Amino acid sequence: MEGIGADLEVMKRVPLAAEHIDAIRAIGRERSYGAGEMMARIGDPMDRFLYVVEGEIEVLDPYSEKRLGDVTLGPGQFVGELSFLSGGNYFLAMRAVSRTVTIEVAREAMLDLMARVPELSDHIITVFAARRQQLVERRSSSIKVIGSELDPDIQKVGAFLSRNHIPFESFDLDGRDEEAMQLCKLVDHKPAVIFDHDRKIEAPTPREVARALNMNLDIGDDLRTDILIVGAGPAGVAAAVNAGAEGLSALVVEDTAIGGQAGASSRIENYMGFPTGISGADLVFRGQIQALRFGTRFAMPRRIERLSVERDGLFCATLDGGGRVLARSIVAATGVRYRRLPLERPEQFENAGVFYAATETEARFCRNTDAVVVGGGNSAGQAAMYLSRVANRVHILVRGDKLSDTMSSYLVQRLEAQPKIEIHFGTEVTALDGGDHLERITVRAGDAVRILSTRALFVMIGASPNTGWLSDLVQLDNRGFVKTGQAVGAQRPLETSRQGIFAVGDVRAGSVKRVASAAGEGSVVVSGIYEFLGNP
Ligand SMILES: Cc1cc2nc3c(=O)[nH]c(=O)nc-3n(C[C@H](O)[C@H](O)[C@H](O)COP(=O)(O)OP(=O)(O)OC[C@H]3O[C@@H](n4cnc5c(N)ncnc54)[C@H](O)[C@@H]3O)c2cc1C
Repeated sequence: MEGIGADLEVMKRVPLAAEHIDAIRAIGRERSYGAGEMMARIGDPMDRFLYVVEGEIEVLDPYSEKRLGDVTLGPGQFVGELSFLSGGNYFLAMRAVSRTVTIEVAREAMLDLMARVPELSDHIITVFAARRQQLVERRSSSIKVIGSELDPDIQKVGAFLSRNHIPFESFDLDGRDEEAMQLCKLVDHKPAVIFDHDRKIEAPTPREVARALNMNLDIGDDLRTDILIVGAGPAGVAAAVNAGAEGLSALVVEDTAIGGQAGASSRIENYMGFPTGISGADLVFRGQIQALRFGTRFAMPRRIERLSVERDGLFCATLDGGGRVLARSIVAATGVRYRRLPLERPEQFENAGVFYAATETEARFCRNTDAVVVGGGNSAGQAAMYLSRVANRVHILVRGDKLSDTMSSYLVQRLEAQPKIEIHFGTEVTALDGGDHLERITVRAGDAVRILSTRALFVMIGASPNTGWLSDLVQLDNRGFVKTGQAVGAQRPLETSRQGIFAVGDVRAGSVKRVASAAGEGSVVVSGIYEFLGNP
């Protein structure tokens, strides 16, 4: 299966071309560091590109202040990883081993040079992505998430970091090994995220972690942009790539994490170009890297709460927690929200045994237990296949009496061939039960009622569109999806009933609810916006 970058171990170390080094030298300035001098500390902004002329640089373990791993950077190499593109902060510290000379270029000037010289940009981004891939795989990071795996707040932070491919390590408060005990002492045995000795977030939330990493873009009042893209699922990110490629200034605001629903899919096999499949989170993250390269900005986790039209025709979007964005056009790419089970307290046990996605994060809860998946669509089928690798057994509960109407036939065949999967037709969940965590569920099939013991229930029974933030500015169909094109007399295909507001992907009435169609709509909508901005 494809990942987010090449394997750094097997990548041949290719030096930058001589003309590229000359171009970097022309806009940078030389700087020298003494042996043992710190070159970047955790939390410092990645605001300059560092090309190493001579010397040696090591990455530090923030707690022991000793070298992390055995890799150092030397002449001909450059410092940094993907956070450089988004203007994030360093999450690993760096120190000169011996006297080191670098050429340093301010971030904006370097991004400008990369935009002008695509071969240079390809080289740098390939190395940055491979480094991030390796950091994530090895969990090499100063970021330590401390708290119980069963704590929903800790789970949210973990899910936010993994979906955004930020490397981190998790430690349980009851951990008995030396490192866990020392870290827990640092935070007084309470849930926290620590970056180093001095930088800790107590009772952490994704928003605070994002702020510490400078991912949420400090939006003050009245930030202006040509296009405001709301939602960073496949549709929003495809729009972000194409807006940047067309030279339009675009800002993407995302409520949770890059990927949208696709981020919850562990393996997408029907997206062209990935014959061995790709996880939805990796696919959309690749798109984000591409969009950042074209200069599109991202702010997350931030939610657009409402939209209004100013007297001068600009759209004004208000964010949760304050801040406004003024935009000449809007792309609604807000997708759908999962449906909950029709029970009295459907939110009970959410993230404590009840899940709406089946990724690595949730799969951990299926070890040594039976998992139950509710639903008969493709997402339920994929989840069951994925979970069958770790769970003792996977039960699929389907209300109807067959799968062929709702699930692709290749998936039905796979489910039937997997001995650990059992499909229960005509079956519904009627109650959830447990202490702090789900322990068992009651299911009914006709008159027969039975109890299934499980600590992991996956609810995959469809979804409803996220349109509240559109504040009645556009027409919706009777199921709440946004109408576009001829149906509302719009001039351009993906335009809504209000000029300048466009809708793409799952939130749009009549769209095909698939990654490829969402990405396709996100890509083509930009030509309509370009035309609108030229002739509003
Ligand atoms: C488990 C699962 C597996 C799937 N597997 C496949 C598959 O294998 N192949 C396939 O083709 N399709 C698959 N799908 C369907 C596919 O993922 C969706 O069709 C696709 O993600 C839709 O993309 P989108 O960008 O339109 O919306 P979404 O992916 O729903 O993204 C919308 C984004 O908008 C954000 N948002 C919502 N409201 C706001 C707001 N007010 N402010 C800011 N942000 C907001 C959300 O947080 C979200 O990230 C799967 C879906 C699921 C759930």
